[in-house]
Amino acid sequence: MTRRIFNAMLGVTLVAVALCMFFLTAILLPHYESRISAELQVELDYLAQMVEDFGIESLNDFHFDKNRITLIQPDGTVTFDSSVDPATLDNHGNRDEVKQALATGKGKSSRSSDTLRDKTLYHALRLSDGSVLRIGSTQYSGMGMVFLLIQPIVLILALVALLSAIISYWVAVRLTKPLNAINLEHPQISKEYEELAPLLRRLNHQNRQIKAQMLELSQQQQRFASITDHMKEGFLVLDAKGRVLSYNTSTSQLLHATHDLTGQNMTKWPIKELAKAVRDALEGHHNETVIPLYGRMCQLFANPVYHQESLTGTVIVLLDVTEKHERETLRREFSANVSHELKTPLTSISGIAEIMKSGLVDSQDVASFAGKIYDESQRLIHLVGDIINLSQLDENSIPYTPAPVDLTMLAKTIALSLDTTAQKQNVQLSVEGEPVVISGVRPVLEEMLFNLCENAIKYNKPGGHVWVSCKNSPTGPIVEVKDDGIGIPAEDHDRVFERFYRVDKSHSKAIGGTGLGLSIVKHSAAYHHARIELNSTPGEGTCIRLYFPASSHLPVSALGTQANQLTLG
Ligand code: ADP
Repeated sequence: MTRRIFNAMLGVTLVAVALCMFFLTAILLPHYESRISAELQVELDYLAQMVEDFGIESLNDFHFDKNRITLIQPDGTVTFDSSVDPATLDNHGNRDEVKQALATGKGKSSRSSDTLRDKTLYHALRLSDGSVLRIGSTQYSGMGMVFLLIQPIVLILALVALLSAIISYWVAVRLTKPLNAINLEHPQISKEYEELAPLLRRLNHQNRQIKAQMLELSQQQQRFASITDHMKEGFLVLDAKGRVLSYNTSTSQLLHATHDLTGQNMTKWPIKELAKAVRDALEGHHNETVIPLYGRMCQLFANPVYHQESLTGTVIVLLDVTEKHERETLRREFSANVSHELKTPLTSISGIAEIMKSGLVDSQDVASFAGKIYDESQRLIHLVGDIINLSQLDENSIPYTPAPVDLTMLAKTIALSLDTTAQKQNVQLSVEGEPVVISGVRPVLEEMLFNLCENAIKYNKPGGHVWVSCKNSPTGPIVEVKDDGIGIPAEDHDRVFERFYRVDKSHSKAIGGTGLGLSIVKHSAAYHHARIELNSTPGEGTCIRLYFPASSHLPVSALGTQANQLTLG
């Protein structure tokens, strides 16, 4: 603003000075010329009188320093000239002033030089003898005056420009200082510029309005942010070019973003599936797909956003479906495995039954064939039982409510039921420990301990041992099932808890294993928030410990009078 005021003032001053000079010249020049003309006329009148009185010779005695005197005869011949030899001059009868004087008695004219710099003014007077006396004065023309004065004019103009620049700057600074001092946040009515009062009042009003709107906007934004930040789903708003306008915390986590994503172009994101979904949405296609994202599986919903029929951006929602995806994969694998596991005994039963039906079996072999059918049926019953247990644990649909259970007593009951199996295998099974009471679901705990003890017997050697112990510890109840059997190779430690995983498939099948025992143990432990620890060395034995949380521990008195009976199905 200071610069504009300064420029305007300087411009106005310079134009005013230039106009002044122009008008002064325009007014003064004619005035100057008319004065010269009047002086010439006076001098001519005087000389004419002198020639009339004393004759033409009197001109020779006269000293002409400035003006030129010429005497022209009526035929135009020049008989006297104060500056040039008259003999060299041509006929002057055609000169305007001479023609006028010859015709009217007086004549006047002016002629400019070739350069237009000089101008000669002539006055002529007819004498009584008919000749014409002419006086001429050469002076600067208007243009000549300007040329003559150009130096001082330029000097004056430069001086005026400098002075007006200084004054203009000073005035501009003084004018703008109070304006610059106005606080636009809280404008006060200025005493110096009362004219600004309505503007400042309006500014004040607008400031209040803007503040109120900003407050409302930020409250809305906060509400929106707190909603989206508490969303488990990633939420991204992109502009029409795919750049991030807004996003929530879950997005940063899902995209493993370590920096602010605002402005990031998502069409160039390193994960090509995500970049492609964004590009598709920006082309106007709704997109719903599952993409891999940094080791997780994410369901992506991309919706183009339109405003007045033109695409203004995209809203992306990212949903972590890793668990669901894994469950579905597991379920698929499980179904395939179950079909396979069920098919084997059924094929066997069907085959034996077919042979018996065709009458090819001797009567003394019928019992052995029927025994095989019975064994396979038992395998099927076990398998179906395990599958039911697992799916109940999977669905979290255990049809029992937790109640106080003494784990030591439960282990002793299970040991009793496995006594015959242990004897058959020539394995010694012992249970020891104080009463350890927890809040749990008896059938689930029973199934879990039974599987652990049965495995410890099954995968043992003749003459081997199984030790079951239960104890209370400051961190919670601990159950340990330890054997000195065949052990599990280290590389199988993680996998033995998978469904249908067996270290030695044929051995496991031969001894009636379903491959679901440890998987049931894992789910049952998880159901009771217990942690499993497996230590095993091939040839030395296996030790599996269950660490129950301290919160599940109950005093013995919690058992009350309830019957603590084995309820194996
Ligand atoms: P299975 O019905 O075949 O016994 P599990 O799920 O109970 O299935 O066990 C999985 C595999 O883990 C078994 O096939 C076996 O190879 C191994 N295993 C489980 N418990 C023991 C153990 N105490 N000693 C050695 N190997 C074991």
